[in-house]
Amino acid sequence: MSELNDLKKKLAMSSRMLFNAQLVDHSGHISARIPGSDHFFILPHPVSRATVAADDMVVADFDGKSVEGKYKAPSEVFMHARAYKARSDIESVAHLHNHMVATLSMVDKPFYPASSNPGAFFGPGPMPVYMDPALIHTIEQGDAVARTLGKGDAVMLRGHGSMVVGQTIEWVFAACVDLEEAAVRFYQASLLGPVRVYTDDETQRVMKGRRKGSVVQKIWDHNVAKTKLARLMEGI
Ligand SMILES: [Zn+2]
Repeated sequence: MSELNDLKKKLAMSSRMLFNAQLVDHSGHISARIPGSDHFFILPHPVSRATVAADDMVVADFDGKSVEGKYKAPSEVFMHARAYKARSDIESVAHLHNHMVATLSMVDKPFYPASSNPGAFFGPGPMPVYMDPALIHTIEQGDAVARTLGKGDAVMLRGHGSMVVGQTIEWVFAACVDLEEAAVRFYQASLLGPVRVYTDDETQRVMKGRRKGSVVQKIWDHNVAKTKLARLMEGI
């Protein structure tokens, strides 16, 4: 029981931290698989991402149907549901309306996140782009996003934002922060000239130092502190 309460509390914390980092606005959401089940906790549709509390979480199934909770699930719950269905290796999913990643998704130019060290959370090669700009309101659309994600850690949604997946809420949160930072750097570097994209070998070596629990914890702790300073962590 307390494990589930911890999960809900971490989701509420991460939502407020994503808001404080300007990675979600009135919309965007994070979720966590209920361990060993075919259900997950997700933020509710109507509650502000800046004030959501543990008890507000909705339980949904892998068809995107709400099965428990006082509020309804977000309309794009299908993105989360079908990612869990397709990927038994992931425990948490975030959908962001992250400004710079959304901007890069609008240009016909591949985005290589791992051309800056924060982007090393995302392996070599360009990030896949889901091209249909419509909101993800059906199982079929959720499946199509999951197919574009493949075995990767994130997918860009054209003109919309992104979806980031991982094995813990903390990992997904840290990856969300680093993805936007990588996008900002890629954009700024692109204005100056052709980007010096890391080779696969360089990416692997940077990944070795960056994709680690200790780095994730440091990013998490820093953002907990920042969000407390902004007085956004009360009444979790
Ligand atoms: Zn959205």
